Order: sequence, then C-alpha cells, then structure tokens
Amino acid sequence: MSDKYDVVVVGSGPGGYVAAIRCAQLGLTTACVEQWEDAKDKAVLGGTCLNVGCIPSKALLDSSHKYIEAKEHFDVHGISTGKVAMDVKQMQARKDKIVMQLTGGIAGLFKANGVTSIRGHGKVLAGKKVEVTAADGKSSILDADNIIIAAGSQVINIPPAPVDNETIVDSTGALEFNAVPKRLGVIGAGVIGLELGSVWSRLGAEVVVLEALEDFLPAMDVQIAKETKKILTKQGLDIRLGCRVTGTEVTGAKKKSVKVSFSSGDEDSTETFDKLIVAVGRKPNSENLLSADCGVNMDERGFIFVDDYCATEAPGVFAIGDVVRGPMLAHKASEEGVMVAERIVGKKTAMNYDCIPNVIYTHPEVASVGKTEQELKAAGEDFKVGVFPFVASGRALAANDSDGMVKLIADSNTDRILGCHIVGPSAADLVQQIVIAMEFGSSSEDIALTVFGHPTLSEAVHEAALAANGHAIHIQNKRPRKK
Ligand code: FAD
Ligand code: AMP
Repeated sequence: MSDKYDVVVVGSGPGGYVAAIRCAQLGLTTACVEQWEDAKDKAVLGGTCLNVGCIPSKALLDSSHKYIEAKEHFDVHGISTGKVAMDVKQMQARKDKIVMQLTGGIAGLFKANGVTSIRGHGKVLAGKKVEVTAADGKSSILDADNIIIAAGSQVINIPPAPVDNETIVDSTGALEFNAVPKRLGVIGAGVIGLELGSVWSRLGAEVVVLEALEDFLPAMDVQIAKETKKILTKQGLDIRLGCRVTGTEVTGAKKKSVKVSFSSGDEDSTETFDKLIVAVGRKPNSENLLSADCGVNMDERGFIFVDDYCATEAPGVFAIGDVVRGPMLAHKASEEGVMVAERIVGKKTAMNYDCIPNVIYTHPEVASVGKTEQELKAAGEDFKVGVFPFVASGRALAANDSDGMVKLIADSNTDRILGCHIVGPSAADLVQQIVIAMEFGSSSEDIALTVFGHPTLSEAVHEAALAANGHAIHIQNKRPRKK
C-alpha cells in the first residue's frame, strides 16, 4: 500500500520547506521528504541554508565583525576596552544555537500548517511516485499528484585538494574550526571563500586566497569588484588572482600543516598553511534522485531541465532551487517554491529572474541587482551611470563606516533602471530598495523624486539616482556624457 498526497516535496531546504508550507496553505495535502540526520539520529530540516550555509556563516560573520570593531574601531569613538579576546567555542555555541532555533522553527511550521515530514532518501519514479528509503534501508512508496524536487546542492571537491575534514576542509568544515588557524589558505575567491576567509582573518588568521581566474568576482560590476578587492586587501586578505592550485601535501603528526602547490602563469609556487578551505563552488544533488524512466531529465552537470516556471519534462513534476539552472541562492529557491505551489493550484504566478539580488556578506557588504556596466557595454546598450561614494554620506561618516559606493545604471533613452551595484555598509538592505523599484519598472527619476529620510544610508541610493541625471547635490556631478 502507498500513501497518497496532492504534493510530495523532496528536500527541506529553503526551496523545499517554503514550497511545502505554501502548498499546505493553499489546501493541498503535502509531504516533505528529507534525508538529513544528525549524529544523534535526529531529523534535520532546513537544508544547506539553515544548517551549513547562509545562517551559520552569517552568525560567524556577525560575531567576528563585532570582535574586529571592538578591537580596532572603538577607539575613534573614545571607547577603550582593554584587551579584546574572542572565545571561539562560545562563538560556535552561539552559532549552533541559532541554527537549532531556526531548524526547530521549520518543524514547528510544518506542524502548524499540516505538512507531513517524512524521513529518508527520496527517489522520483515513473507515474508520479516517490520511493522513500529510510536510514535502515526499509523503503516505501508515496503517490503524488504533483512532485516538487528541491534536492539542493553539495560542495565540489577538486582532486588536487582532497578534503580530510581536519587540515583540508570544505565550507562546512570551515564553519566548525574551534581555534583560529595561524595561517589559513582559501582556494577560490567566490562568495563563500571571501565570506569564510573574512571570518577567520578578522579573528587573527593570516589569510591567503588563491583564485585561478585573473579577474576578481567576474560576474560583478567591474568598478564595484575593483573597489571590493581594494577594501578587502586593506583589511588584510591576501587575494592572489591567476593562481591555480595543482596539489596539496599534508604533513606533521600531532600538529599538521598543508603545503599547497599552485601555478601562476609560467611560475610554480608553494605556500604552507595550518588549515586550507576548499571553496571552489557547488554541484546539484542529483545522484540517485531520478529513476531512468521517470521522464525527468538533467544536463551533463546534473542540473534538472526545467522551463521558466520550474516544470520538468514530466507532467506534474517540478524542480526548484540549487538543483536547477540559475543562481544558487536561498531566496531564489524559496521564490521558485512559492511560484510552483501557486501554479499547482492554477494561479499564473511567475518569477522575475532579472530581479534577483545577489549579496556577499563581507564588511562592507557587496550587493547587486540587474545588469552590470560591462554587460550593457557588450550588448551595445545606451545607458547612464550615477555613482555616489559613502565617504560623502553623513550617516556613513557618523557610523565610521564610509568605504564603498552606490552605482545606479539606467537606460539613457527611457530612464528605466537597469541595475544597481553597491559595496558599502548595509549594501544588502540598500540594494533591496532598487530590487523593488525595478519590479515596479521605475525610472531613475522616480528614485530621484522620492523623499529619503535624513540622515540615512539610503540617501546614498537617492544621490546615485540624482547623479545618473547630473543632479547630485552632495558630490560634484560629472559633466553629462556627450552623445
Ligand atoms: P538545499 O538548501 O541544499 O536543501 C536541499 C535539501 O534536500 C537538503 O536538506 C538535502 O539533505 C535534501 N535532499 C537532497 N536530496 C534528497 C533526496 N534524494 N531525498 C531527500 N532529501 C534530499 N545563499 C543565499 O541566498 N545567501 C547566503 O548568504 C548564502 N550563504 C551561503 C553560505 C554557505 C557557506 C553556503 C554553502 C551556501 C550559502 N548560500 C547562500 C546558498 C544557499 O545555501 C543555497 O542556495 C540554498 O540552500 C539552496 O536551497 P535548496 O532548497 O535548493 O537546497
Ligand atoms: P564560486 O563558484 O563563486 O563559489 O567560486 C569558486 C571559485 O573557485 C571560482 O572563482 C573558481 O575560479 C575558483 N577555483 C576553482 N578551482 C580552482 C583551483 N584549482 N585553484 C584556484 N581557484 C580555483
């Protein structure tokens, strides 16, 4: 006998749990299958984001930011603290408590909404069935009218740097150090490498980031990426571009270290570290997920093929989040979950993939939405740019936090906002104002004519919009570009 549901969701990360809750809110009988269990055999909900991703990394970023503020930046305010010390175990315990609180919260939300939580590995079979295999090997079959695959992603390992979870770790291991390494190597100057490198650098590690590409954050706006690199370098991150890691050797018995070999142009070099973080990206969790005859297909890298509405090639089977195309971001996964749930009940919900914010939670934060200047140039678009540096913001100066800038880009002909790129204090929250503006199809003049509270960091967004039109008040305007 098999259990029957309107919807079976596979995976309980931000894609899956949000989809499951929205389905239940819409009156659909819903089950969510999750395979993750902790060392004590307890079911773990929340996926990468809550357990080993967004949330624990932000907890450590916030603790380490407070530490460095107290240690290095309180004196300008006239505050003396004596010796500032970090209890790494306490910092980790705080992080673990936040993770527990949030993952427990999902279990509560499932209960409150009537979502059935099922433990085990889910495999999608033909005929809209899901086979669930429990940890003890026993399996059962769920029948569904609709299936939502939200299996997420896992870290990529590279042969030159095999993770041993002691000296060479992945992003999960880098969230668990119980002491600050003296010398820390990071492979990959992507979002995760920069965030985790920043945590341990602030706490005193000497951090070297080895990045194979010649360009820093190539998907970001070039001007913002350049400024970000300058700021992070000033903070002490030793970012080495064009350095491809080719091998590692772990030595030592009690106190281990790792010698990392890398090539840079024609030159081969080595560096020795106490710990090495491998942060070279993530890949979809699509192994043993689909039966050969289930009608769902994936590309050679394991991403499930879906259309703009996350429908797979099998009717009634959807896939969302990190396991499908698009940026690997929690909010993208969640919004896809909502869209699919609503489409299942016949609503015409769609997602605007041109309006997904992207954030790096270094300090200052780096945040962007929409097109970059280099993308628009390459497409031959006619656009105007307004830039406002935080050093001209009264609020940023008052907060002793004035590194960075806001850059707003609008269409020269229609004035419609095409993108916004920020490195600076609270960039993640500031860029959201432009995400909303872009959703409403705003022009830069709409922002320019909006009243902003004073003194706020948001005024920098206002001034960037004014600057795009040559009207900025608190900086000298560039002469309008000649056409
Ligand atoms: P996941 O969160 O990966 O969840 C998938 C779930 O499915 C897992 O629980 C897994 O156990 C389960 N599962 C997989 N296969 C099966 C199966 N066959 N049967 C049953 N269960 C299965 N994103 C942001 O937007 N902001 C951030 O600040 C951010 N920080 C990050 C920091 C780090 C260190 C990392 C690693 C990632 C970060 N991300 C961040 C990315 C974010 O975590 C992911 O984009 C997001 O978790 C994807 O959600 P998802 O639901 O698609 O998948
Ligand atoms: P992201 O995918 O944004 O997390 O970034 C991962 C980064 O790791 C990319 O910028 C890759 O260029 C980089 N990378 C991948 N393999 C290597 C390697 N062997 N040595 C150095 N950097 C690498």
